[in-house]
Amino acid sequence: MIQTDILIIGAGPCGLFTVFEAGLLKLRCHLIDSLPHPGGQCTEIYPKKPIYDIPAYPSILAGELTERLMEQIEPFSPGFTLGERAEIIEKDEDGQFVVTTNRGTKHRAPIIAIAAGLGCFEPRKPPVENLASYEDKGVEYIIKDPEFYRGKKVVISGGGDSALDWTIFLTEGVASDVTLVHRRPSFRGHPDSVQKVLDLAEAGKINLITNAEVVGVSGDGNLNALEVKHTTDGMMSISTDHWIPLFGLSPKLGPIAEWNLNISKNAIEVDTFDYSTNVPGIYAIGDINNYPGKLKLILCGFHEATLMVQSAYKRIFPDKNLVLKYTTVTGKPSL
Ligand SMILES: Cc1cc2nc3c(=O)[nH]c(=O)nc-3n(C[C@H](O)[C@H](O)[C@H](O)COP(=O)(O)OP(=O)(O)OC[C@H]3O[C@@H](n4cnc5c(N)ncnc54)[C@H](O)[C@@H]3O)c2cc1C
Repeated sequence: MIQTDILIIGAGPCGLFTVFEAGLLKLRCHLIDSLPHPGGQCTEIYPKKPIYDIPAYPSILAGELTERLMEQIEPFSPGFTLGERAEIIEKDEDGQFVVTTNRGTKHRAPIIAIAAGLGCFEPRKPPVENLASYEDKGVEYIIKDPEFYRGKKVVISGGGDSALDWTIFLTEGVASDVTLVHRRPSFRGHPDSVQKVLDLAEAGKINLITNAEVVGVSGDGNLNALEVKHTTDGMMSISTDHWIPLFGLSPKLGPIAEWNLNISKNAIEVDTFDYSTNVPGIYAIGDINNYPGKLKLILCGFHEATLMVQSAYKRIFPDKNLVLKYTTVTGKPSL
């Protein structure tokens, strides 16, 4: 059981900044995210796009904003449960919340901050028969740890940056054999990555099959072969240990809808006094909340996080007097 003061569901920019504001009040935080890395939309959807409305940064790449936030919260040593979806919220006999993930990891805290953005990013799955029976038995939609593929035969499908980047990475001394299957003749990814993949194919380091798609999976319990349909050459079979279809992720509200919270317009209704929900002790900040005048901007989520932790502190320590202190006065932040 992981115990903390504020359990944050969602490690996007607003969840990360909550750690900082909580840390200033000497509150410890732990974050859960279904993605294998922090940063939320900034990392998952647009890491290389510049953002122009972060105060004091005339321009910052979304990926770099995540790095800066991680650096800013480092003195507060937050805990992370990554690659796991917060699934169930219960209350124990002491009135603390217990949150269990889809992998069974349990977390306990008096306060929950839901910073779940647009919801959980779910993989877009190809319409292949029997696919579900090979999930986690050779078929994976997210690469959590590239080491898992060391010495293995791997087929990747997709034409975007994720498919190209992982093809390049796994070819560089990780997997024993890498095949990239893409249904079009050209790729959507960054031109540098496209060129690198074409060079690897030319050098015989990867097997590149374009104008083709995987239409069948087979094996004896675990995946061992794929049926690939080529637009002109017809069907072919590829022997493999893993198939990783990387067709992007789309956000879904997911388990949040089951947590007895007031939901409207696919978002959690909050009181703008402190961003509390209808369940005492549970707050919602960032893109996941809704109130009159709501703007889905990072800047607004930072403000919500700041007010929210003040209220959380008063719930945890009802008898303590909380006085606002400037960081210029308190000095270098730490717990
Ligand atoms: C292309 C694009 C450009 C943008 N440009 C700007 C801009 O210029 N300026 C600006 O201010 N904003 C911009 N935005 C919006 C900005 O990215 C969002 O406002 C911001 O990411 C919201 O942060 P968040 O922390 O609330 O949520 P998110 O960034 O969405 O993070 C939420 C996290 O919660 C996780 N999660 C959800 N449910 C669960 C669960 N049950 N268990 C575990 N984890 C869960 C998700 O995996 C995700 O990582 C842009 C958005 C896009 C898509």
